[in-house]
Amino acid sequence: MSIEHFDVVIIGAGLSGIGAGCRLRMRCPSKSYVIFEARKEIGGTWDLFRYPGVRSDSDMFTLGYPFRPWKDAKAIADGPAILKYVRETAREFGVDRHIRFQHRVISASWSSQDARWLLEAKAGENGETVRITCNFLYGCTGYYRYDHGYEPSFPGAENFRGRFVHPQHWPEDLDYAGKRVVVIGSGATAVTLVPAMAGTAAHVTMLQRSPSYILSLPSRDRLAGRLQRWLPARVAHGIMRWRNILISLGIYQLSRHRPNFMRRLFRDGAVKSLPQGYAVDTHFNPRYQPWDQRLCLIPDSDLYKAIRGGGASVSTGQIETFTEHGIRLESGEQLEADIVVSATGLQMLALGAVQLTVDGRAVEPGGAFIYKGVMLSNVPNFAFCVGYTNASWTLRADLSSTFVCRLLNHMDRHGYRTCQPECDPASLEAKPLLSLTSGYVLRGAASLPKQATEKPWIIRQNYILDMLTMKLSRMEDGILKFGKPLAAARGEAAGQVPAAYSADD
Ligand SMILES: Cc1cc2nc3c(=O)[nH]c(=O)nc-3n(C[C@H](O)[C@H](O)[C@H](O)COP(=O)(O)OP(=O)(O)OC[C@H]3O[C@@H](n4cnc5c(N)ncnc54)[C@H](O)[C@@H]3O)c2cc1C
Repeated sequence: MSIEHFDVVIIGAGLSGIGAGCRLRMRCPSKSYVIFEARKEIGGTWDLFRYPGVRSDSDMFTLGYPFRPWKDAKAIADGPAILKYVRETAREFGVDRHIRFQHRVISASWSSQDARWLLEAKAGENGETVRITCNFLYGCTGYYRYDHGYEPSFPGAENFRGRFVHPQHWPEDLDYAGKRVVVIGSGATAVTLVPAMAGTAAHVTMLQRSPSYILSLPSRDRLAGRLQRWLPARVAHGIMRWRNILISLGIYQLSRHRPNFMRRLFRDGAVKSLPQGYAVDTHFNPRYQPWDQRLCLIPDSDLYKAIRGGGASVSTGQIETFTEHGIRLESGEQLEADIVVSATGLQMLALGAVQLTVDGRAVEPGGAFIYKGVMLSNVPNFAFCVGYTNASWTLRADLSSTFVCRLLNHMDRHGYRTCQPECDPASLEAKPLLSLTSGYVLRGAASLPKQATEKPWIIRQNYILDMLTMKLSRMEDGILKFGKPLAAARGEAAGQVPAAYSADD
């Protein structure tokens, strides 16, 4: 039976995979490609999460694609609006026609002899095995498990008689009107859920072990509204995008270099927005430095408003045990609950659990280094897409996709069939891929590829520097090694010039 072959296979039809398809169409129009998506729908994260109030915590001018303007002045968008934007982009660029839904890629095996990947996927409801080959594989699989969020084992959880919910699997039938709700967590999901449920529930308590940094921004951007009225959509989007890139870069750099100043700024914001005498230092003054963990953005001070209005409150402390009717803290405080939401985070997952092998050798992502934040050391014709943790995901995801296109075009121009960043892992000093100290990052660190202390193996959380590197740096840097077509290699062998891989051209 003949196996279908494509120039490129993209795994994943989330924000990144759809963006990658658009970039391929724009920059490598002659390449054949297909997107394998495990789920039945486009959108990844933005289709999976359905909890009340689900929204972005970065602005849509940078979370959106640079090539498709976000036309709404509401910069902090809700989940359905983001999903609609991703779906419309896929349709507009014809990327939706290239997606095979319900195709979960299980393994990808590289054969140097054929200079191809052989992929195996489980397709449809029955999990029928589908095989396909490609020249280049691009993983846009996100970074966490879809089937299971992270749930610590809570002492006495079995005693609780109410409903226990994880935001990753929000029950459609969950009626929380008039109910007492406890949301465990202090991250982006918790600070979104609490104000969203507060109007309807009898009361919502955000129960946190320790506080997070919170920054309130207007959900509607007045400048965007004006620019969108007067300028062509693309120009307005470009201006807003660059303004927000610079602002978020500024906040990050200040947080790293003037942490005490930023700590004061965040604290002052909380003091101004909360009732007089509120215990800001207990509930909103974290132990860690700004940007050691992801900053939580709230639109229009909605969390503070919910607290001021009395519909929500914050408890900071350790859980001693769940009881029949709620949770008892070590401090003795008792939180009565009909519903407990465990907004305790994600389980990190490398490369969508796809098992990679290179000529029969299994690739352990945790043992590999990441080249320019986009390729894996000693793995040929493979790239994967990771966004920023300190800025909008798409900023970096789009740089990855444009780099992949640049690489494919470079290979075509020079007649190369293969490319791989080469290194001796023992010669590099390994550092975790993500520099955050958040629980989910620390829990998953061992299974993720590593960065090193020297270029091009460093991950810089800096869009401007990354943009220069990804768009302008030399492809032939001596580390990214290219292989010539088999025919050319044979010709050279006949002429006694051994060159299976050639760094220069
Ligand atoms: C609740 C929530 C809110 C967030 N808010 C923001 C925000 O405001 N700003 C921001 O920058 N980031 C945010 N993020 C990070 C967010 O994940 C990214 O913004 C972005 O959605 C990631 O897109 P992606 O396509 O890379 O990954 P995903 O959205 O995770 O999509 C990956 C896709 O790949 C598919 N897939 C995975 N493995 C396989 C496989 N083996 N075979 C086939 N298909 C596979 C999945 O089914 C999925 O459709 C948020 C994350 C969460 C969970």
